[in-house]
Amino acid sequence: MSSFQLDLLVVGGGSGGVRAARMAAQRGARVALAEVGALGGTCVNVGCIPKKLYSFAAGYAEAFEEAAGFGWQVAHPTFDWARLKANRATEITRLNGIYRQLLVGAGVQLIPGWATLVDAHTVQVGGQTYTAENILLATGGTPTVPGIPGGEHAVVSDAMFDLDPFPKRLLVVGGGYIACEFASIFNGLGSQVTQVYRGTQVLRGFDDDVRHFLAQEVRKAGVDLRLESDVASILHTPAGLEVRLVGGETLTVDQVLYAIGRVPNVQGLGLEAAGVAQGKDGAIEVNAHYQTSVPSIYALGDVTARIQLTPVALGEAMVLVDHLLGPKPGKAARQMDYELIPTAVFTHPNIGTVGLSEAAARERFGQVSIYRSEFKALRHTLSGSTERTLMKLVVDDATDRVVGLHMVGADAGEIVQGFAVAMKAGATKAVFDSTIGIHPTAAEEFVTMREPTAQ
Ligand code: FAD
Ligand code: NDP
Repeated sequence: MSSFQLDLLVVGGGSGGVRAARMAAQRGARVALAEVGALGGTCVNVGCIPKKLYSFAAGYAEAFEEAAGFGWQVAHPTFDWARLKANRATEITRLNGIYRQLLVGAGVQLIPGWATLVDAHTVQVGGQTYTAENILLATGGTPTVPGIPGGEHAVVSDAMFDLDPFPKRLLVVGGGYIACEFASIFNGLGSQVTQVYRGTQVLRGFDDDVRHFLAQEVRKAGVDLRLESDVASILHTPAGLEVRLVGGETLTVDQVLYAIGRVPNVQGLGLEAAGVAQGKDGAIEVNAHYQTSVPSIYALGDVTARIQLTPVALGEAMVLVDHLLGPKPGKAARQMDYELIPTAVFTHPNIGTVGLSEAAARERFGQVSIYRSEFKALRHTLSGSTERTLMKLVVDDATDRVVGLHMVGADAGEIVQGFAVAMKAGATKAVFDSTIGIHPTAAEEFVTMREPTAQ
């Protein structure tokens, strides 16, 4: 046993930190975890979970409208924002408790408070110092705030879950995951939503077809999406927030949400004192083993500013624990594979995607075949909704492997998860073709597209 008080001290009780602490303690290591806020971090408290709950809430608006086509007479539904907020808060508190139980049950010592690095093996929290053989920094990220006149009147995503009162008129700035998801959610809940994005199409990096299709669908659903547009200033007036756009147009809204990316949470962490090297926006630099420039200090998840997704932070945590403590008996050490990471954007309708966009595949492989299908889902033959579904496969001609799979439509995230397994296993288009569909589903379209639409 080393002369340090602990084998591992984890800073940050979010997705990555909790997983690493719990698994290391289960392997018999002496572990402590310092967390300044609520256990579970961004995902549980102000990210994935409350966001998805609100996305479900938003979906009921369409469901009530569509029910009539199926014979249901629904009295005029009303929405109780206070009830949704309260129910969400109760559920999140329950999850915080489960995280606590899991950590304590595994033998992790919980240290509430802000942690600061003192040196390569020492961390200070609330005036007390703790020494550890290894330190893991999993401090996540924080939303970027705008540097425009009146920017202090805008809010970031953290504040959206508890707004009071409900914003009848909402301006969303940005074209990434958070901007698109919150535009759809608040549109569904009944806000009049305007979304402004500085570029030519939202969701840069996604397949171009998906981006255009999604933009068309959210506009049909009621979001006033304005491209090549940006905010010049925000003024607080008795009528609301007066927002001047760069072209000179003025909008009056109740809230402005800025969702223009997140930066690593490194301020006041003491990285300089310990000599930890940082990159762009302060991101902690790590090698393939999540080791920083100081050999006893590791970092993973959003603070390393690579792929900012909960399952990626979880995966990295498990790989790190195997690296530090050895794999589970009888198992090989886990490796993190950054290829073919599936992802979903919980807009209405959802986007689900895994692998390369058409443009990226053409660049990497040269000759590719595209299989594309666009249709009205069976449900909407009676629902009265004009929503359409898009499915697209990108196939590398040289190997016949499916290298990109994209969907915009109901439950796209649920559908794409399974296909991601097939693609990790190297499935070819021939394997897709020989797979029997499940009828009648939307998902069967992925195994019944026979003729390429472009090559
Ligand atoms: P975090 O979960 O951010 O945890 C970091 C923790 O460190 C925090 O609890 C913080 O309080 C603590 N901390 C920071 N500094 C200190 C310090 N000095 N001392 C003590 N404690 C400290 N990802 C998905 O995969 N799917 C989604 O649907 C999804 N939706 C999202 C929606 C929103 C609105 C946001 C903002 C993010 C979403 N994400 C989603 C991203 C996901 O939440 C993050 O990628 C994930 O939480 C990163 O985990 P982490 O462990 O790196 O950091
Ligand atoms: P993103 O990086 O996804 O998007 C940022 C957006 O803001 C882009 O459209 C970007 O435009 C725009 N932007 C950047 N700077 C400015 C500026 N100065 N003025 C105007 N617009 C600007 O960040 P998000 O904040 O949406 O989300 C952070 C991360 O959290 C995501 O990348 C994702 O990894 C994760 N997340 C995952 C979710 C999921 O899995 N469903 C849901 C929510 C978040 P441009 O493209 O032109 O640079």
